[in-house]
Amino acid sequence: MLAGRMMDYPLTITHFLERARTYHARSAIVTQNPDRTSSRATYADLHRRASKLAHALTRLGVRAGDRVATLCWNHARHLELYLGVPAMGAVVHTLNLRLHPSDLGYIASHAEDRVLVVDRSLLPLYRKFAAQARCVQRVIVIGDDGPVEGDGLDYEALLAPEPDHFDFPRLDERAAAMLCYTSGTTGNPKGVLYSHRSIVLHTLVSCMHDALGFRDSDVVLSVVPMFHAMAWGLPYSAVATGARIVLPGPHLDPASLLDLMARERVTFAAGVPTIWLGILALLDEHPKRWDLSSMRAMVIGGSAAPPALIDGFLARHGLVVTHAWGMTETNPLGTIAHLRHGLDLDAAAELDTRASQGYAVPFIDQRHVGADDQPLPWDGRSMGELEVRGPWVASSYFGDEGEDRFTKDGWFKTGDVVTIDGDGYMRITDRAKDVIKSGGEWISSVALENALMSHPAVLEAAVFAARHPVWGERPLAAVVLRPGQAASKDELRAHLEPRFARFWLPDEVLFVERIPRTSTGKFLKSQLRDEYADLLTKQPPG
Ligand code: AMP
Repeated sequence: MLAGRMMDYPLTITHFLERARTYHARSAIVTQNPDRTSSRATYADLHRRASKLAHALTRLGVRAGDRVATLCWNHARHLELYLGVPAMGAVVHTLNLRLHPSDLGYIASHAEDRVLVVDRSLLPLYRKFAAQARCVQRVIVIGDDGPVEGDGLDYEALLAPEPDHFDFPRLDERAAAMLCYTSGTTGNPKGVLYSHRSIVLHTLVSCMHDALGFRDSDVVLSVVPMFHAMAWGLPYSAVATGARIVLPGPHLDPASLLDLMARERVTFAAGVPTIWLGILALLDEHPKRWDLSSMRAMVIGGSAAPPALIDGFLARHGLVVTHAWGMTETNPLGTIAHLRHGLDLDAAAELDTRASQGYAVPFIDQRHVGADDQPLPWDGRSMGELEVRGPWVASSYFGDEGEDRFTKDGWFKTGDVVTIDGDGYMRITDRAKDVIKSGGEWISSVALENALMSHPAVLEAAVFAARHPVWGERPLAAVVLRPGQAASKDELRAHLEPRFARFWLPDEVLFVERIPRTSTGKFLKSQLRDEYADLLTKQPPG
């Protein structure tokens, strides 16, 4: 028997924005500015300024469904864009400022961004891809230190004359709210278009106690950038609960972050392992310098958090680290290594469980499949590709590319190779694809190989990951030179330099006689990875 009908109340981000004003008007938004001073605003300001923004964008011709791109660090105005743009029915598209300009140009034009909002300090980056992104009709510049002249519209001048109130439309919960691109692991970057509904459901589950557990008394530091994977949804989870939010701007070095955590009495912080490795090292050096007694949780994800990191924080500083897994395609929270009540683990097993990628949060289903696409047993040993499904998992890419990532029976193929144990805890053992993850950012091995192989002296090149104590992974290149030809490491790096972001350049170039191959003639990168895994941990990177 079906239940009586419930109200058709749309699950939209607008509701969070309205709640922010109604119940959490005094909650603070703290931004660390580029000059290291702090700015303070409230959720009442957030609502007021998001309303002004909606008026301004309407005046500029932005209509429902139009893409408004951001090229910004984490700060209060970026938060206004996160809330105001979707609430007016348009789509906020975060551009990842760590990508190479040619990728950004491709992404902006693929997304057909109409308006771009850019931090003044990032204007030089925008200029490098502006010619590729002709769809952008208006550029709005956020001045870091005063009004902007000459280079597009000034954000503050644009908002100033607008009314404080905007009649936000009643939207369909399935309307698009946000667009993020994956970082182009194979082929071109692909867009993930999130609906209001998927973001709202993701937010509600993220806030559950056994997930991120947000509450209005929290002070949330989003180290994770708002330009990558929606900052793990932290901006929405904070606004939804009324938590105070702390946005670090461009200063992400360990000392600045520790200063911010102590000064603002941060209770919750989230970031990639590279950030936390730096913080742990500094804390070990100066255990008493910062008062972190307010901290209740630190969430680490984006790449694997080493057990020594998790253990080091707890054993030496009494700080709890929670490991989580997710992807741009999963909004991103998928699994979290919460220690369930009643597991009865000894100390070693407890650390091993904390260091796992965890188990699925409510409404996410997880399974792993073998080469025959059949589900594998949850025995902690069988390795297979992780597949997930749920209301905030993408069911296609923007523009319907990459169809092979979606199964006929409704699962998303993650590309991560995992085991799952009898309690449901998942552990990533490898990646199906050979991308390299450095400091939480992808580096595409194929793109580097193709560029290396365009050098006249290079016959073959394989790029693969080696472990790195700070960045998690760094790229190495194995190169076979053409007979009778010569090229040095520096020459090959110089050949790559104009085409890639600096952090993409391989740390080492190994000149080899042949590259190992699979039976089907593909590069056998797992063999290279095994052979050179510790090259950079044994010797200082060159
Ligand atoms: P992205 O879409 O750029 O956020 O990257 C998603 C990928 O990052 C996943 O498919 C994993 O390979 C990797 N990843 C995310 N979280 C973790 C984690 N906790 N441990 C290991 N790898 C992770």
